[in-house]
Amino acid sequence: RPAPALGGTAASRELFARAKGSLAGGISSSSRLTSTGPHPYPLYMSSGSGARIRDVDGNEYIDYLISYGSAILGHAHPSLTAGLTEVLTRGTMFGTCNVPEVELAELITDMVPCAELVRFANSGSEAVQGAVRAARGHTGRTKILKFEGHYHGWSDTLAVSNRPDETEAGPYGAPRAVPHSPGIPAGVVDDVVVCPWNDPEALHAVLDAHRGEFAAVICEPIVANNACVMPLPGYLERLREAATAHGAVLIFDEVCTGFRTGPGGAQSLFGVRPDIAVYSKALGGGLPIAAFAGVREVMETLASGRVKHGGTYNASPLCATSALITLTALADPAVTRRIEEAGLRIAEAIRRAAHDHRIPCAVQGVGAMFQAVFTPDGAPVHRYRDTFRIHRRRYNTLRHELLRRGVHCNAYGLACWFVPAVVTGDELAQTCEAIDGAFAAMD
Ligand code: PMP
Repeated sequence: RPAPALGGTAASRELFARAKGSLAGGISSSSRLTSTGPHPYPLYMSSGSGARIRDVDGNEYIDYLISYGSAILGHAHPSLTAGLTEVLTRGTMFGTCNVPEVELAELITDMVPCAELVRFANSGSEAVQGAVRAARGHTGRTKILKFEGHYHGWSDTLAVSNRPDETEAGPYGAPRAVPHSPGIPAGVVDDVVVCPWNDPEALHAVLDAHRGEFAAVICEPIVANNACVMPLPGYLERLREAATAHGAVLIFDEVCTGFRTGPGGAQSLFGVRPDIAVYSKALGGGLPIAAFAGVREVMETLASGRVKHGGTYNASPLCATSALITLTALADPAVTRRIEEAGLRIAEAIRRAAHDHRIPCAVQGVGAMFQAVFTPDGAPVHRYRDTFRIHRRRYNTLRHELLRRGVHCNAYGLACWFVPAVVTGDELAQTCEAIDGAFAAMD
């Protein structure tokens, strides 16, 4: 094996040992604990600039996690630093209506086809909750249809069958609704019906079995949280028609795809308009802000005040300004095109390295967000249960070998890489070289 390009990570190891004394499990979010590979502790990052981040030991990495897709303009982007510094000097939040939230809502209604009215929240989980509340308020129904392997946040409402394993998933056509965690009440799970993805017949069977019961059908149009599975051609159109036919609100969870796969997100990319779309991550450019935006008919339930939605921190001037600056940049199609092209170059480097080193691997998704999946035959996966066949240890090895070569990507092999808008040609070349080296070091 080649000598590691990086120094050690002793400071991260010590910090994790210290953190366990005061933080539950040593972490602030379950996904930050990576027990895979030779690092039985997370890396502690201390600074970032452009596409690069630095850990507390002084190692530098080109970053394709970009805070789970949030820092889409890169770290410490000069426009964000200047704009946010200005807000800091004027007061970050008043808990009142403010100018940036209005400008931001107008920008979103300009960019997103389904967005006639917008509401803001602070995280993807919260915005999903808001969208579901609006759908239930609008329809007067309770049940939600969700898809196996799709992730919609950690709150009780939809933390169901995110990643069931083979023993708990139940029959393919009628999957069990599996709570993602102890502590989720059975009543919540009873209100969620789970369906396999990318299978129109299964969808119709589930809808028919619960005719008149669904308030909403919710999906990740590109399944960012499970192998970056793409919708099969025509599937989203069928989903749109089926939701309409059954009187259910169609919600696209665009927390990952929004403002990333083009200015209009997945609904523009695929040409399918949901009733509500949910945003976070790229929206905030690194600050906590989220939105749900939808057609007037459904969002009116909130406008009238009949259906309640609150939040002390919603659209604070600080976060709304961050989003305004970020979306103003992303509204230029040349910016998202550049992200897409940079990602396609990396995806191609992975395919080439896998081919050259004879390791079966498919790269799934689009340029702006993709994942390398190690299926036994290198074929892509289209449904959640196909992910059971993925050779997960190989991804862990790939990630570790990339870290050693100064490339940082998601620790979870079924989530995806996100590409920062500011990655340079040199950084891309360095990334491609690291990828080849990492595959060469894999068994
Ligand atoms: N929906 C999707 C598609 C997501 O990827 C995530 C976060 N990974 C969420 C919802 C939840 O967002 P948050 O972590 O901001 O609550």
